[in-house]
Amino acid sequence: MSSVLRSSDFLVVGGGISGLLFALEASKLGNVRILAKKELTEGNTPWAQGGIAAHQIDDLEAHKRDTLKAGAGLCREFAVEKLLGTAPDSIALLRKYGVNFEPHLGLEGGHSARRIHHVQDQTGKAIHAALIDSIRANKNIEVVENCIAIDLIIDRKVDPWRFHSKPQCLGVYALDKKTNRVATYVADEIILATGGAGKVYLYTSNWEGATGDGIAMAYRAGCRVSNLEFMQFHPTCLFHRESRNFLITEALRGDGAILIDHKGNAFAKKYHEKAELAPRDIVARAIDAEIKKSRAECVYLDARHLGSQFLEEHYPQMFSRCLELGIDIRTEPIPVVPAAHYLCGGVLCEPDGTTDVSHLYVLGESACTGLHGANRLASNSLLECAAMAQLCVETIRSRFGGAAKNAEDSSDKAALRKLIRPWQSPAVRDDDELIVITHMWNEVRHLMSNYVGIVRSNKRLERAHQRLVNLLNEVKSYYDNLAIHPHIIELRNITLVAHLTILCARKRKESRGIHYNIDWPETKPARARDSIV
Ligand SMILES: Cc1cc2nc3c(=O)[nH]c(=O)nc-3n(C[C@H](O)[C@H](O)[C@H](O)COP(=O)(O)OP(=O)(O)OC[C@H]3O[C@@H](n4cnc5c(N)ncnc54)[C@H](O)[C@@H]3O)c2cc1C
Repeated sequence: MSSVLRSSDFLVVGGGISGLLFALEASKLGNVRILAKKELTEGNTPWAQGGIAAHQIDDLEAHKRDTLKAGAGLCREFAVEKLLGTAPDSIALLRKYGVNFEPHLGLEGGHSARRIHHVQDQTGKAIHAALIDSIRANKNIEVVENCIAIDLIIDRKVDPWRFHSKPQCLGVYALDKKTNRVATYVADEIILATGGAGKVYLYTSNWEGATGDGIAMAYRAGCRVSNLEFMQFHPTCLFHRESRNFLITEALRGDGAILIDHKGNAFAKKYHEKAELAPRDIVARAIDAEIKKSRAECVYLDARHLGSQFLEEHYPQMFSRCLELGIDIRTEPIPVVPAAHYLCGGVLCEPDGTTDVSHLYVLGESACTGLHGANRLASNSLLECAAMAQLCVETIRSRFGGAAKNAEDSSDKAALRKLIRPWQSPAVRDDDELIVITHMWNEVRHLMSNYVGIVRSNKRLERAHQRLVNLLNEVKSYYDNLAIHPHIIELRNITLVAHLTILCARKRKESRGIHYNIDWPETKPARARDSIV
């Protein structure tokens, strides 16, 4: 397996809303290369249905209040101010790139005013499609699809005498999945926009590539990560072995569907006076408690009483998808489990994506700016992605743009690039071992769902920690001894992100927002601190 060196001004790893918007704006400053580990059309962005929040005139203070309230005392006010303040510009920019938001603003749970910009119930898809069209038409941007980044290249690994200054990022090693070759990509500025990590859990609403690659790569490169214990769970994901990421919309509960246990008893009222319509985290916790108590694999959402005609007319997509999987929602209750949905934590960074490593920025769901605190306000995530992309380009423009580019810095970089060694990995390929890798994937995901799910305890976290330490060693030995393969790259990343999640959760000796530990059930004002590892 040989290695070639490719250079550009900007290297963006990830083609979701944050990576694409950054690329379009940065292409005005220099040439951009985007790496995407599958087709560019894939990622969490096209799955976003609801919309993107942005305040109207006179509504900024209320939007801030709603965000801080959802964040349960852990939001970083500087980031809230900066990112929400940028939101109207982000909407204008997205419109400029061809997104046709509807004139009528939506209202979502937790928002005190109508401020959700949307395109029917397919906002993410519309944004992604418009940005991809602009990217394809832009001659200053090259897209490399099916190319998975393995690790960042850091100066002190290239030149061991560089321990005196802040580490700096020079590029990434990435595997072209079609040719099975690893290339070395170098750039002046490297941007990680690799999305979330829902795949760390068994059931998730996320796309299949949400394996926390950027978080793992940044951590290995020397960045701190923060607040990974705050994984937001969606209460009702279809429970089916062949389909582990199909969401059963909350609207069905709004229309009167009832949660029942495996014996047919309704249970939601026991947990909250609003029963099925209680806040998301409370419904998710209630379902989790019922599953643990009954030892059943799932609970059920019963919509039969809403009538066949109503279900077919109002929920055509859900009706047909369930039917395809052998579940007739007109005549039987729908099996559901909570699913990992949105990661509030990530790589510790400023609102413009600046990290602990020079020339390395992190954007979007991989980032932890402090906007979400201990729980995300609905539709603030697409907003964070777009606003961060804009702020990041502004920072780069003011620091390094045009004539201001530092000549000394450039010649130092050129010297360092000469020292970068081509990628090396064993040529041994063993397909039997790839089966073991699939088992290990499942092991990590089961472990996280069983021990580090919606309700945690000190004992469960301890057990999960011990097992993960062993798994980390096993995965390392596979990574060191087998030819590089996308499954190994992703397994290595989910195992590390799982481990870091447990470390963050163990640091939090209280319950707050969406993190709930039965041994520390109270929220303690003195512990309103970020968990950083
Ligand atoms: C079902 C669902 C509904 C949602 N609804 C909403 C909503 O209504 N409003 C809202 O604000 N948010 C919503 N969200 C959250 C929101 O969609 C995401 O937070 C956001 O789209 C993340 O964008 P991103 O740019 O960070 O990453 P993504 O869109 O996930 O893109 C990640 C990119 O990184 C690439 N990548 C990853 N790893 C590598 C690697 N190692 N090498 C190369 N490339 C890599 C992928 O190929 C992909 O191109 C929803 C999420 C889901 C799953």
